[in-house]
Amino acid sequence: MTVTNEPKIWDREVILKYNISGPRYTSYPTAVQFEDFDPTRTLEIAQKHKNSHKSLSLYVHVPFCRHICFYCGCNKIATKDPARADAYLDILEKEMQMLAPYFSERPVRQLHWGGGTPTFLSVDQIKRLFLIIKKNFSLLADDLGEYSIEIDPRVTSRDQLVLLRELGFNRISLGVQDFNPDTQVAINRLQSYDMVSEMMHIARQNGFFSVSFDLIYGLPKQTRESFDRTIEQVIALNPDRIAVYNYAHLPERFLPQRRINESELPSPEEKLNILDSCIHALQQAGYVYIGMDHFAKPGDDLVEALNEGTLQRNFQGYSTYGNMDMLGLGVSSISYINQTFVQNYRDIEQYEQVISSGKLASFKGYQLNDDDLIRQRVIQELSCNGRLKFDALDEQFDIDSRAYFADEIRRLAFLADDGLVTVDNHAIQVTKAGRLLLRPICMVFDAYLQKSPTNKNRFSKVL
Ligand code: SF4
Repeated sequence: MTVTNEPKIWDREVILKYNISGPRYTSYPTAVQFEDFDPTRTLEIAQKHKNSHKSLSLYVHVPFCRHICFYCGCNKIATKDPARADAYLDILEKEMQMLAPYFSERPVRQLHWGGGTPTFLSVDQIKRLFLIIKKNFSLLADDLGEYSIEIDPRVTSRDQLVLLRELGFNRISLGVQDFNPDTQVAINRLQSYDMVSEMMHIARQNGFFSVSFDLIYGLPKQTRESFDRTIEQVIALNPDRIAVYNYAHLPERFLPQRRINESELPSPEEKLNILDSCIHALQQAGYVYIGMDHFAKPGDDLVEALNEGTLQRNFQGYSTYGNMDMLGLGVSSISYINQTFVQNYRDIEQYEQVISSGKLASFKGYQLNDDDLIRQRVIQELSCNGRLKFDALDEQFDIDSRAYFADEIRRLAFLADDGLVTVDNHAIQVTKAGRLLLRPICMVFDAYLQKSPTNKNRFSKVL
């Protein structure tokens, strides 16, 4: 039977019912499942798959920040000392030299520098880091790869941006968060509209293919009206992609958040008003809702991939490239090598010490079993392409997926009643309304959450 009672995309009653805590599924299983991991295993896995021709997605973590934003939950180190980065680059070089013998031949389709603040690095340090990568891995020329970097407009100069484009970066994501001056004071992140506009201008002048903005709703001193103004300003700047993240206030976990005045946070009701209005404005302006916080312009690669059913998702968020191994370099970074997740030490001293001693710094990891791989596929399909064809799953994994997921399909009936999915004998289809609530839909297939439902409280709320 096909269920077709699709409500309008913003149905507050349904949203309140499903606005629970849960993972963003940039990986399955999530990092919560990672176990103690001996770094020699990382090399064994790398050695075993040395002759693989799979493309690589390289992530480099640059943990330094000149100023600390009070909302931040990232792994970062506050410093104004540029020499701190020199020492870190020495260590990164050692790490790459240890990994290069196993990965140097593979084409790097995706490269991402994240942080922290990658442009904490000076022009010379950026050049050096890029050269180290180029020496140890096979970067693609002529913009054939998707090479991106996170840009903090407050600390990025024209020279840095021009250099990044010359080196081969073709995408940037700008941390904007909110243009409201009162909110900026409350989160300790002052950056004017003109500053962001200037970055945009330089990026366009220098031929970056894609500029993405990161925004956050639910910050202190935000109201529906103030965020409406921010969205108007964002639309005027015309970015190609926009991510609108939900601020999760977890001061017991993230020290800087203790400096946020809780009484200045918008109420849960107002937060939903802010998001409702924001989605409406972005859609009116022509942006397409991709899913899980992301919007893009109609001609964007992500929208084309969404329409063609080929959209992918990994630690870098949505992407058009799939079937890659991921190599994470730097403190706290996560790799995914042939069905095994491996994470580096989160503490910079430990990370630097272990690499200096000539060993890899992996300390946590997880090897996926057959059931994980099936569920990973299901979650990937639902969160990216909004549908799951049972026959395709049967063929790929040699299972009877309708029988395999009989329990999950029964539980999905409740979500179907609320208009989030339709389920028939051939497929599960996410509805328009369901695209806003992909996380609770995917959670139905998360074996670890089903075993330990309290685990979900370790994640932020869906909206
Ligand atoms: S939000 Fe970015 S710039 Fe601000 S403290 Fe966190 S990592 Fe640093």
